[in-house]
Amino acid sequence: MPIRQLPEDLINRIAAGEVVERPSSVVKELVENSIDAGARRITITTANGGMDLIRIADDGHGMDRDDLLLSVERHATSKLGADDLDDIRTLGFRGEALASIGSVARLSVASRTAEAESGLVLVVDNGRRSGPMPQAMNRGTVIEVKDLFAQIPARRKFLKSARSETAAITDVIKRLAMANPAVHFVLEGSDRTASNWPAVTGEGALGGRLGQVMGADFVENAVTLATARHGIVVAGMAGLPTYTRANSLSQFYFVNGRSVRDKVLVGAVRAAFADYVFRDRFPVVALYLAIDPAEVDVNVHPAKAELRFRDQGAVRGAVIKAIGTALASAGFKASTSVAE
Ligand code: ADP
Ligand code: MG
Repeated sequence: MPIRQLPEDLINRIAAGEVVERPSSVVKELVENSIDAGARRITITTANGGMDLIRIADDGHGMDRDDLLLSVERHATSKLGADDLDDIRTLGFRGEALASIGSVARLSVASRTAEAESGLVLVVDNGRRSGPMPQAMNRGTVIEVKDLFAQIPARRKFLKSARSETAAITDVIKRLAMANPAVHFVLEGSDRTASNWPAVTGEGALGGRLGQVMGADFVENAVTLATARHGIVVAGMAGLPTYTRANSLSQFYFVNGRSVRDKVLVGAVRAAFADYVFRDRFPVVALYLAIDPAEVDVNVHPAKAELRFRDQGAVRGAVIKAIGTALASAGFKASTSVAE
């Protein structure tokens, strides 16, 4: 066969395989967009594990007509300058999510800026665009994703049950809510009993949000982390050694506001608790690291869930120190200490 350029909608579908693996990845991309748009309140509705419906409504800055049209194009983003890959401060930056979702579902994007007299809605139905059409709405953006992968049987087949897709969506929302205490989250839809996590601000905001999401029980049985070491700030809460779990599902890690999975952080928590907790028990932690963005590479994985620290030793030391200090103030003294 001769070499030929692939058509745009096929390119989008291939890319969609990486960005939108399952309903929870769609939810993650859309809620991150709402947060990047400065939303104070985000309402998330899903049905049938997100496979039939995902609806995200926010009160962020919205998009005007030109931006709305660009938003569903591939590699179109308002968040990345020509050469600032080393300095990423927003959650999104690849400009792929909406284009990818529109290629594998019926996507509608409705948006209104503060200046606009009405909203506009654009539809992309499995790659075919229509609109924009006027739509009455408040300032902000409402995105609906219907019948995800319905026209891609091979992918739909690999999805798990509605129940486990719902669990994955809930996990994604939990992490985003934990990372953004000042944003009001509302969860609705036939997939769940509704949850409502009002914004918490000021002193103790983080503890307030952790109480909403992880339960008051955790907050009452945890110590607060608050240290800065070699430019690395560690915050959050760590459960007492008497408050552990049989698996690591209750360990949450955030780096510069982004939920991550990372072996260096997991290893550091394990080391910090080594003196107090049996090897088969896992401390419950919500650990927040703030570090110079130039010290982390987040561009390792399309879903941005993995990262790489430039100086792993410094990060490990900072986490061990933060937990050690907090546990010591609660009366737990470690036999080993970190060298300064
Ligand atoms: P990225 O987030 O990587 O830029 P997306 O495909 O997720 O790419 O979104 C494309 C663009 O559409 C964003 O850069 C942003 O300008 C706009 N956009 C998407 N969602 C929203 C939203 N909820 N509110 C305002 N603008 C949005
Ligand atoms: Mg995005």
